[in-house]
Amino acid sequence: MSKIESYRSTAQVEHYIDGAVMSGESGKSQPVFNPATGVSDRSVSLASKGEVDAAVKSAAEAFPAWSNMAPVRRARIVNKFLQLMNERKNELAAIITAEHGKVFSDALGEVARGIDIIEFACGIPHLLKGDFSDQVSTGMDNWTLRQPLGVVAGVTPFNFPCMVPCWMFPVAIAAGNCFVLKPSERDPSASIFMAELFSEAGLPPGVFNVVQGDKDAVDALIEHADVQAISFVGSTPIARYIGERATKFGKRYQALGGAKNHLVVMPDADIEQAVDALIGAAYGSAGERCMAISVAVLVGDVGERIMPLLEERTRALKVLDGMNPAAEMGPVITRDAVSRIESYIASGVEQGAKLIVDGRNHRVVGNEGGFFVGGSLFDRVTPDMKIYQEEIFGPVLACTHVADFEAAVSLINAHQFGNGVSCYTGDGGVAREFGRRIQVGMVGINVPIPVPMAWHGFGGWKQSLFGDTHAYGEEGVRFYTKQKSIMQRWPNNIKKGADFAMPTAN
Ligand code: NAD
Repeated sequence: MSKIESYRSTAQVEHYIDGAVMSGESGKSQPVFNPATGVSDRSVSLASKGEVDAAVKSAAEAFPAWSNMAPVRRARIVNKFLQLMNERKNELAAIITAEHGKVFSDALGEVARGIDIIEFACGIPHLLKGDFSDQVSTGMDNWTLRQPLGVVAGVTPFNFPCMVPCWMFPVAIAAGNCFVLKPSERDPSASIFMAELFSEAGLPPGVFNVVQGDKDAVDALIEHADVQAISFVGSTPIARYIGERATKFGKRYQALGGAKNHLVVMPDADIEQAVDALIGAAYGSAGERCMAISVAVLVGDVGERIMPLLEERTRALKVLDGMNPAAEMGPVITRDAVSRIESYIASGVEQGAKLIVDGRNHRVVGNEGGFFVGGSLFDRVTPDMKIYQEEIFGPVLACTHVADFEAAVSLINAHQFGNGVSCYTGDGGVAREFGRRIQVGMVGINVPIPVPMAWHGFGGWKQSLFGDTHAYGEEGVRFYTKQKSIMQRWPNNIKKGADFAMPTAN
């Protein structure tokens, strides 16, 4: 049976522990929906503390042999996993669309960006190379190396069930750690699919485990004495909580949070290109991307030129089941998300923003039970409004007008979030100034969604990231390893007699 057939016939999504699918014993589970139909035909087990313990135990037992394996041999297993992921990407993307709702081409894009990180992790022998200083004192050398931490855990959000786990586990595992992933309970199947493929690639049992679950499983992981570090991606309140709990339990952590990303359109920008960028980045994946553009900052006379075009394009959006090849935008993740997004739209109207296109009560013929919200467009949004300040995480674009470049920069720098930002301009000087002065972690110049490539690392500023290091890239390698410094000399270079002064180079 192919993986996709086994996925379709599985009524219960389970854990993956010690190299095998393991049935949940806690008795706790919750339904998993197809957001395009609103129907649930499978459930996900929610791990108990005991099941989390079993996953961590399996990882801890696998660690000595895995961390001692030559990095190049670990890299070969990662390389085989890379090959299998490439072969099976269509199946994985279909699983993502069935549980998340994003359109199939977008799911394929997410898988491709996850695969990029696996490819990066294949270079681990090079990435783990340390520094060497010859003759730091007579007959003495000093070098550094990076060693894995042990058992590390990852907790991931619903919106990228393949890509975000791939920000973590391929790099951590290639570096010699053993990993326990707690994916989102809303779309749990992609992680099991990847765990099975990694085993097929030759990964020893216990090196990569998946525990399905909710807050109980996350708390059990953070509190577990054998978990050395935790990577989290999700909303800001939970990211902050993870940081606080991890600190209390003495864990290394990185916790990436929510966002409110602005796209500035300068008067000298190519307006057609800016419209394409705004429509794709605001409504792609139904706005459920941490790098989605949710605020358009229209500078000078751009507003009057661009608003009619934005309105026309928003009204024309094809909102359909994500498996329909004509779909540009699929449903949102849950019925609760529909209510949350619609109540934000209502609050925008109440606070005086001008609702140009109203996506509430959107119905898709043939998919009446699905969790759909149409593309929504606001004009005249001001910084005091809730729809400006808070992350909506849905297909709602808020347009605001400013007089000039200075005002655009000040507006963005004052926002609580600092994940991504973009500036559309034809002026190199403006672009350079924008890149230098903007208080945001990831910047696009005429690029709407500047998600950094696998070898650069991903992370926001301000309330969009807690902890010090960004995800993946060299920052990821540093996060999942600790540096050791070794100084060495041999007996023929050691002078006789105890030395009571602080040692210095001689
Ligand atoms: P979420 O914070 O609700 O959930 C994320 C993870 O935390 C899930 O695995 C969930 O089971 C777990 N969780 C939920 N409540 C918890 C609690 N009280 N205690 C412990 N764990 C808990 O986020 P979501 O709705 O799945 O994802 C959307 C959010 O993620 C958005 O805010 C989005 O901006 C953010 N996100 C950020 C990035 C980034 O890189 N900054 C990337 C993707 C998504």
